[in-house]
Amino acid sequence: MRDIHHFVNGQALIGKSGRFGDVFNPNTGEVQARVQFATDAEMALAVQSAATAQIGWAATNPQRRARVMFEFKRLLEANMTEMAELLSSEHGKVIADSKGDIQRGLEVIEFACGIPHLLKGEYTEGAGPGIDVYSMRQPLGVVAGITPFNFPAMIPMWMFGIAIATGNTFILKPSERDPSLPVRLAELFMEAGAPAGVLNVVHGDKTAVDAILHHPTIKAVSFVGSSDIAQYVYSTGTANGKRVQAMGGAKNHGIILPDADLDQAVKDLVGAAYGSAGERCMALPVVVPVGKKTADDLRERLLEEIETLQIGVSSDVNAHYGPVVSAGHRDKIASYIQMGVDEGAELVVDGRGFALQGFEKGFFIGPTLFDQVKPSMRSYQEEIFGPVLQILRAESFEEALSYPSDHQYGNGVAIFTRNGRAAREFAARVEVGMVGINVPIPVPVAYHSFGGWKRSAFGDTNQHGAEGVRFYTKVKTITARWPEGAVEDSAFVIPTMK
Ligand code: NAD
Repeated sequence: MRDIHHFVNGQALIGKSGRFGDVFNPNTGEVQARVQFATDAEMALAVQSAATAQIGWAATNPQRRARVMFEFKRLLEANMTEMAELLSSEHGKVIADSKGDIQRGLEVIEFACGIPHLLKGEYTEGAGPGIDVYSMRQPLGVVAGITPFNFPAMIPMWMFGIAIATGNTFILKPSERDPSLPVRLAELFMEAGAPAGVLNVVHGDKTAVDAILHHPTIKAVSFVGSSDIAQYVYSTGTANGKRVQAMGGAKNHGIILPDADLDQAVKDLVGAAYGSAGERCMALPVVVPVGKKTADDLRERLLEEIETLQIGVSSDVNAHYGPVVSAGHRDKIASYIQMGVDEGAELVVDGRGFALQGFEKGFFIGPTLFDQVKPSMRSYQEEIFGPVLQILRAESFEEALSYPSDHQYGNGVAIFTRNGRAAREFAARVEVGMVGINVPIPVPVAYHSFGGWKRSAFGDTNQHGAEGVRFYTKVKTITARWPEGAVEDSAFVIPTMK
């Protein structure tokens, strides 16, 4: 059995805890490797190595740090296919989708290549007589990232790309379900010229997460995962004096106004609902058609489109999507489908019981479609995170606007319409963090910032872009005076620039 080791101080660290997690091949259902779970002492070793490396790394000028990012970007491109295959083999998403996962992370690295410009401070000459004021952004020190299974390339790079470019050193605690790609990223980062200890990967479960949350040297924690754990990480981390951003779950709605280009909207919806087996925090698992005719037409066309979907193993280039990540997750999705039936929703297409010939033990689940879903249903209120699309019919624009706004999650939303004024009003009023207008998966580009509202994000700073730079740096403001002439009297009142 292959063991997946930690990566600390530039090399593999063989864990001694005797605790492991099984890493499956979701296509076959077999265990293909086991990942080591760290002890507190192993986490402490990684933090020590990061702290030692941080002194020299922070003193390395930003342009040299950017050169490592440029070289890392080149290596990501050169190794794209090999990495995508590795990622798919543990996650189950198809290879083209894994390449997209790596590419979106790579775009954050491209953004980080501009770090000398992003770190420039502000300067005011002559804020008072002989007084200049300037500010600088300095790294926090050692920071950590805890990431989910569904984007094992993009989400680690959202975090360590910005954190390391800004002069911090990093501990990554990736998901225990698909931990190999994050280790590969760290190896390539070293190859790109990063000194040992700048990027460390420590595997584990709650024990490793708690070790991060309680380690006094770790100054900031970035988390992405499900909402209850995000809230736990946020409250525990901040109680321990750390800066924390914690992104949580999602239930994104696609609103279809009667004037939408339905042919395009259906194509977009099917890709966004079923792509990656629905295991995306920016998937569109709820569609809200406005008006009966829109809903009936939509349902008919969705049915036609769903029939064309091909489910296959992750290496099948013709497959639209592959298996879900684990048997447990497949069973959870199936139980939500049953819940929908029990709650009275109309099950139009049932993906349970789908089996792929030759891969009967794989974690597959077919596309599922519900109609007549009501906002009071638990299967609507909670995140399913599988290939399940729910039609929630609305009578009016106002009613459609209320559903994503009133939902506990507020990650993403999309509106499909040809009416610019309606789209503009929707974008302004909806209580959701990321909005697409005729764009089904509105993941912002790397130089903007990613983050939801309500239970989709805890903390006040988004991922990457200018917000990411702010999260991983602290501002220092210097007020400098160069007096000349006679000695001034002591001042006993607060100085002002009157
Ligand atoms: P998860 O919450 O199970 O795991 C996330 C991380 O937390 C992992 O590293 C895991 O090891 C750790 N963890 C698990 N249990 C823990 C515990 N009890 N205490 C402390 N840490 C624990 O999430 P997942 O299943 O890997 O990922 C899917 C979830 O992530 C979905 O809810 C999805 O919406 C969400 N997600 C959100 C975003 C976003 O940006 N908002 C992006 C991607 C995924």
